[in-house]
Amino acid sequence: MMLRAHKIELRTNNKQATYFAKASGTARKAYNWALEQWQKQYEAGGKPTEAALRRQLNSIKRKEFPWMLEVTKNAPQMAIMQLGDAFNNFFAKRAKYPNFRKKWIDDRFTLTNDQFAVNDSRIRIPHLGWVRMRESLRYIGKIVSATISRSANKWFVSVTVEIQKPRPIANDNQVAVGVDLGLHHFATLSTGEKITGPKPHKALMNRLRRLSRSLSRKRKGSNNRKKAKIKLSRLHYRIANIRRDAQHQLTTRLVNDFDIIGIEDLHVKGMLRNRKLSRSIADMGFHEFRRQLEYKAPSLGKKLVVAGRWFASTKICSRCDRKVDNLPLSVREWTCPYCFTHHDRDVNASVNLEKLAVSSTVSACGAPSDGAVTYVIASHGALKQESNVIAIYG
Ligand SMILES: [Zn+2]
Repeated sequence: MMLRAHKIELRTNNKQATYFAKASGTARKAYNWALEQWQKQYEAGGKPTEAALRRQLNSIKRKEFPWMLEVTKNAPQMAIMQLGDAFNNFFAKRAKYPNFRKKWIDDRFTLTNDQFAVNDSRIRIPHLGWVRMRESLRYIGKIVSATISRSANKWFVSVTVEIQKPRPIANDNQVAVGVDLGLHHFATLSTGEKITGPKPHKALMNRLRRLSRSLSRKRKGSNNRKKAKIKLSRLHYRIANIRRDAQHQLTTRLVNDFDIIGIEDLHVKGMLRNRKLSRSIADMGFHEFRRQLEYKAPSLGKKLVVAGRWFASTKICSRCDRKVDNLPLSVREWTCPYCFTHHDRDVNASVNLEKLAVSSTVSACGAPSDGAVTYVIASHGALKQESNVIAIYG
């Protein structure tokens, strides 16, 4: 068993944000009160414990801090338990002496699993009801706790889940896949499957273009320009969320179905031909795609191999391994001049990524890995197979 936390932004309304601020305030007050009591009792020769302090607070809070009753009882209780942990860590020399919590910096409170429920992309909080989350929980397993916190004036929930430890995979019988990313199709797999981007993307992109054109026509400093700017940034955010959700689906599927996954470094061939706008959005997507695979693959005991940008995945014939000199972006299909195999450009590239991934894990994964980056090669040559790989995760 191992614990994994997923931090998700919450889509709060005013009432919910006010409640979170209040619950965080209660947690902070309880923590600081308990720390002060701890110090007093210790100086008076006593032996303070977090359990005794929780009982002590319970007996006085109705009279001294009646506002604490307006939020979940978890807020003060868990805060004092966390103070107990902080002291344990201090006594074990793992951490410094506990500090008082500060407003705005330490705005958070924790819920035990009997005090909340997660359903799809919503979380139910006592006294408050359902709060929407920006994405759904990515781990499957027993939910342990949730911590709600504020940063940059946004509220987040970090849900801790107990998951099964991945079973190590024997070196044979591994299933590998190469993934070629592009603008035409978001991803092409070496299995021949082509995955288009999320559906609403195109319609939203047209709206995005219209909005950014209308923004450029508005006078600088005008109210209308301000409004258009807000509209535009909201739309950007929406597009990014749709994309990210679709990517989570895809990356989860990849790590579930395959043991070794080969992808390319971020840059995408021929991007310069495209408009700046679509390029920046696509770039964001590729970053996110790789980021998701980087943590999902090792967590399931799978391997992610990232090919460097000097690896000519497109120009190498995946059948005979020979390289052609020039292959303009407009050429979607081609025939190898050496072995006469007819290739779909993207499928051929993804097959090369799969082959590279397999060959580099076979030569590199003899030693057991601890789930971090196994090795990183920074080489600019393209002679040896390994020098085409820049990182292996898992
Ligand atoms: Zn060939």
